[in-house]
Amino acid sequence: MTDPSAMNDAYNRQREAMVNQQVVQRGIHSPPVIEALRKVPREAFISDALREFAYDDTPLPIAERQTISQPYIVAYMLDALQLREGGRVLEIGTGSGYAAALLGEMADEVVTLERYKSLADEARDILQRLGYRNVDVIHSDGTLGWPEKAPYDAIVVAAAAPEIPQRLKEQLAIGGRLVIPVGAHDGQSLRCLTRTSEHDYREEHLTSVRFVPLVGEAGWADREDTSASSKPVTAKKIPARKARSGSTSELIAECAEPLDDEGALDALLERIGDSRVVLIGESSHGTSEFYRYRARITQALIEQKGFDLLAVEADWPDASQIDHYVRDLQTEASQWTAFSRFPTWMWRNEEVREFVDWLHDHNSRITDRTQRVGFHGLDLYSLFTSIDSVLDYLEDVDADAARDARERYSCLAPWRTDPSAYGRAAISGSYRECRADVVTALVELLKKRMEYSSMGGTRYLDAMQNARLVANAERYYYSLYGGNAESWNLRDQHMFDTLKVLLTYRGENTKAVVWEHNSHIGDARATDMRGRGQLNLGQLCREAYGNDAYLIGFGTDTGTVAAAADWGEPMEVMDVQPSLEGSWERLCHEARISAFQLPLRHSRSQVLNKRLLEPQLERAIGVIYRPATELSSHYFKARLAQQFDEYIWFDHTTAITPLTSKTLEGTPDTYPFGL
Ligand code: SAH
Repeated sequence: MTDPSAMNDAYNRQREAMVNQQVVQRGIHSPPVIEALRKVPREAFISDALREFAYDDTPLPIAERQTISQPYIVAYMLDALQLREGGRVLEIGTGSGYAAALLGEMADEVVTLERYKSLADEARDILQRLGYRNVDVIHSDGTLGWPEKAPYDAIVVAAAAPEIPQRLKEQLAIGGRLVIPVGAHDGQSLRCLTRTSEHDYREEHLTSVRFVPLVGEAGWADREDTSASSKPVTAKKIPARKARSGSTSELIAECAEPLDDEGALDALLERIGDSRVVLIGESSHGTSEFYRYRARITQALIEQKGFDLLAVEADWPDASQIDHYVRDLQTEASQWTAFSRFPTWMWRNEEVREFVDWLHDHNSRITDRTQRVGFHGLDLYSLFTSIDSVLDYLEDVDADAARDARERYSCLAPWRTDPSAYGRAAISGSYRECRADVVTALVELLKKRMEYSSMGGTRYLDAMQNARLVANAERYYYSLYGGNAESWNLRDQHMFDTLKVLLTYRGENTKAVVWEHNSHIGDARATDMRGRGQLNLGQLCREAYGNDAYLIGFGTDTGTVAAAADWGEPMEVMDVQPSLEGSWERLCHEARISAFQLPLRHSRSQVLNKRLLEPQLERAIGVIYRPATELSSHYFKARLAQQFDEYIWFDHTTAITPLTSKTLEGTPDTYPFGL
């Protein structure tokens, strides 16, 4: 159990950071707004499942497929109201009640209207619990305003209207301001209307925004309400948004499970069932929501289903340091330099650190070390670190063998600074090919398995795995020069072989979670890779474990991502371009649910499943992101329902937070990411 006061401290810190980084640094300084933001606990307005994202720079889903706005945009709108001393305010679109609470801090009296009764009831409860006696939540169509309490010194509308509803204009006090998003569903202009006299208004455009639609008599038609008696829309000439009935997006919306539903995670766990291997993807290497949501799933798998280990797309020796930290619970900071090579941010980030801390905590309650949850790396880029590890190990257990191995590995020595040059030189004959040497080194180590493992099984396993990595990395770098599918396949085959070793060394029923990019964990046979003769980890797992492997993909439309412009270049926070027409992403975006999971293996709609088996574009952002050449650099074709067993969607996402050296200064020097 998490200590509640510690949680509160954590939220207070996050709230402070949110106010500073997302609001003040972006130029909003108005004291009443800032003070209100500092006071209101945003986490209280968010479902348990998404609470940890409460202070993210993003809107989040709430019930009824609505959203709680991004903190910055709420601050921006409140700032635009220019409330000076108290007064009476009308809000349209209570939603979670968060903005109403902020208004409760700033105004004398607040009336807030919400068209969904369930939302109004829930928000009223929360506001009452938090002690907001001056906020009145009313279940009603806000496009008509609330004449009983008019005029209002300010009116703020949190949903997008086709045009400014006349009644709201009428209910504005002279000198008062109305802030409202106006425009079509895929983007609106945020307007500020000031009533300058009985009959005059001044209108200005503030910025571009995107809100859920304002649905009601003087707003958009309710697209879910198809009954003949549905109210006519008074807005003239502006057609109500009509999602093509039966369109793929509409079917997705029907079958999707919004992530804020209390039971969402449980439903996913139930579908995962008794699977032994759960592979969780990501469609970029730098998106915070992906890291955190898969951490959440993983925690549940560990706690509720007894998963034994996590294997990630990182090199074995780096992950070993983390494994040592979380399982041995000892600390040797001075030696720890995990993930210090490009792309460092992929694992050295706040999101991963939080998970590692959790795992450390979880394991510390398990006395038997062999039962603790492990953290391992499947990748093979650590050729020389692995060579050094094998040699260090042999020095300790068998000096003669160490000498022989050193001799063998010296074949690769010329490539220490640039292993990628090895293939060309070896193929052209200008340098020696090292295959026989590295394989012999591995075989020698395997031969002495009994002898060495009696001196310490874990260290032997580690050395053996490093020797295996060296052997596979030699082949990988050798084939790299050819530039064909072979190097990709060698790498994924190595990752699969490593996973197999992990799944057996703890006994038959070992269960593993894998974190890798979608391109590794989604079945290659469902994508363009197949035509290129490429296979991947997801495919190999399905072939080996059948339904005992569960493949979960992730996707997003827009937001920010941490990536580099080119290999070896510094990390930047880049804007993710809106997804392209003809892509899965576009279809999910048009389902208009900000975060959801879509069951594919256990699909609820035959019709939808058939459509999801057609090839469509899919986006993959890796360590590198090149928005200028999106289509050719990042899109490929895939049959979604064959590629994954489940697809998880975050419409708007934010970049991961890399660990900076400043952060590291503040952390105990025992932390495994320490440089
Ligand atoms: N201020 C909210 C944001 C809510 S999103 C928050 O801080 O959480 C917009 C809300 O407007 C949704 O809950 C939606 O149901 C509501 N809404 C849409 N049309 C409405 C209408 N005509 N009257 C009242 N509420 C409406």
